[in-house]
Amino acid sequence: MPQKHAHSHGEPPYPAVLYKKRGDSMSFATFYQRSVDDPSAFWAEQARRIDWHHPFSQVLDGSRPPFARWFVDGATNLCHNAVDRWVATRGEQAALIAVSTETNTEKTYSFRELHAEVNRTAAIMQALGVGRGDRVLIYMPMIAEAVFAMLACARIGAIHSVVFGGFASNSLASRIDDATPKLVVSADAGSRAGKILPYKGLLDEAIKLARHKPAHVLMVDRGLAAMATVAGRDVDYAEQRRLHMDAKVPAVWLESNEASYILYTSGTTGKPKGVQRDVGGYAVALATSMDTIFCSKPGGTFFCTSDIGWVVGHSYIVYGPLIAGMATVLYEGLPIRPDGGVWWSIVEKYKVTRMFSAPTAIRVLKKQPPELMKKYDLSSLQALYLAGEPLDETTSSWISSALGVPIVDNYWQTESGWPIMTIARNVEDKPSKLGSPGVPMYGYKVRLLNEASGELCGANEKGVVVIEWPLPPGCMQTIYGDDQRCIDTYWATQVPGSPNPAYSTFDWGIRDDDGYYFILGRTDDVINVAGHRLGTREIEESISSHPNVSEVAVVGIEDKLKGQVAVAFVIPKAAVDTAQGRAALEAEIMGTVDRQIGSVGRPARVYVVGLLPKTRSGKLLRRSIQAICEGRDPGDLTTIEDPSSLQQVKDALLA
Ligand code: AMP
Repeated sequence: MPQKHAHSHGEPPYPAVLYKKRGDSMSFATFYQRSVDDPSAFWAEQARRIDWHHPFSQVLDGSRPPFARWFVDGATNLCHNAVDRWVATRGEQAALIAVSTETNTEKTYSFRELHAEVNRTAAIMQALGVGRGDRVLIYMPMIAEAVFAMLACARIGAIHSVVFGGFASNSLASRIDDATPKLVVSADAGSRAGKILPYKGLLDEAIKLARHKPAHVLMVDRGLAAMATVAGRDVDYAEQRRLHMDAKVPAVWLESNEASYILYTSGTTGKPKGVQRDVGGYAVALATSMDTIFCSKPGGTFFCTSDIGWVVGHSYIVYGPLIAGMATVLYEGLPIRPDGGVWWSIVEKYKVTRMFSAPTAIRVLKKQPPELMKKYDLSSLQALYLAGEPLDETTSSWISSALGVPIVDNYWQTESGWPIMTIARNVEDKPSKLGSPGVPMYGYKVRLLNEASGELCGANEKGVVVIEWPLPPGCMQTIYGDDQRCIDTYWATQVPGSPNPAYSTFDWGIRDDDGYYFILGRTDDVINVAGHRLGTREIEESISSHPNVSEVAVVGIEDKLKGQVAVAFVIPKAAVDTAQGRAALEAEIMGTVDRQIGSVGRPARVYVVGLLPKTRSGKLLRRSIQAICEGRDPGDLTTIEDPSSLQQVKDALLA
């Protein structure tokens, strides 16, 4: 029988810690092997890194593949581990550093202050009727209150669903309908390059469009935009905060497998998938990654430039650094405003020890005058981590010599929650290879499958990157509310010779003779614009709603700065013959996407064609269109309905 003991630090039944302590030398191969040969022993050791209110009785329940339940019966809480745990020992240390170059404000919250704010927000949520298991949708700019709201949800066992602020009404409405939140937390506005983005207006429109109506909307008024309030539904955050100044809301101890959050991501259909994550497995995976991969030390400062609306923001702006006892920087603004030195000024001022960004941002900074970087003392910085899209060699070499610290590429996805491949520098400082994110991380049984034959690929042979069941702790539990969709979408393949199903990442990969992997792009219709994952189908659906669009194909094409950009080819209902008419239609379509999905989804160009390349069964040949746009061979066209459609695409590009 598991005995009750509060805040255990690894007393029995946990085995002794076997992971590397400083000074020990353990090869990564040994560390990795243990994780796949005996996952229960391996993860029980890692579980000692966090506080458990109640010990788990079973490390892995694998009775229902492809699902996996980690740390069964264990009771813990993400907010406790991120905040409360540090208040006694690091109460006055910086925890959250909120910097906005949009509003020119900076504020540092110590762990004690963060604890107080989170308690207040949790009390407000409870007063609005939010409890364990209820969903709270967070549609917020990068401000401290967004982090308070996420942690407050974690504290009371509510499931948060953060929607990226760049999404507009239709995207938001479909997420409201899927998550059916009791409460939405939002703000009057966001700001980008000084331009006000009226969040409240977009939210009101989304709630109008949605079938589900949230009972309350908690609004942070930043004084950036006028906003209409709906009586009885909308509640002012500042007013509520005053009422709950001294609130103490105990962390609710959750069973490890209860849901902590839902994060929507794009796939092959127009309907976004709600990736659902657990509590205990996620906390353990993050704590382990913070040490082994991010070499974190309590008291250090982590600066992740992503957005809380993406998985990188969830794991490495909010939960990861705080669970590791580090200060985390929350940055609202562009990397080049007021000038291209702004991030380096933050590194200097807050003595940032570890930074995490995306290749696109580094390509943007590469265009800046070099003296902007030299102006600042960057001696605190020990490593830069890059993820979200392939890291090209030019960018990697440039930033590596400019900063003089290790550049650590890491490959993962919304579904995994933490790196699938990288170099775990704190286990073994293996050399990295240009263009490769590294080797599979502990717990991930990564395989490459030949797309046509389903056989395992040999070295230097391109295949689909799959992961053999079970996925390690921290990975997606399911698609929210739809186990079957999760099974059908992700678990349709099997590794030859294995009795277990395999999870598909939908990425192409290749492994060299030394076991290093290279990621070669998506196998599906997902595109990656500046590290942001977008579904071409969602964009197509939005474009189709334009009254003069009969058919549309959206593809991602290579872009020097953003990695990829979306371009659309449309067949209009009524002929558009003039250049002027085409330009007008392009502008209208861009406006439609802006309004419905948001500017993140806006295609860079809209081309008018009379015919689209399709197979005889009517399937759009997106890969062929993409190849033509990129000046490559369109590939096998034996099944094409009408080859003249290819010429139409070529002509449109030249028109
Ligand atoms: P997201 O779910 O938005 O994080 O997007 C995940 C996708 O981004 C992956 O499936 C890859 O296609 C791509 N990706 C992420 N990190 C890397 C990386 N380090 N190298 C290459 N591609 C990456």
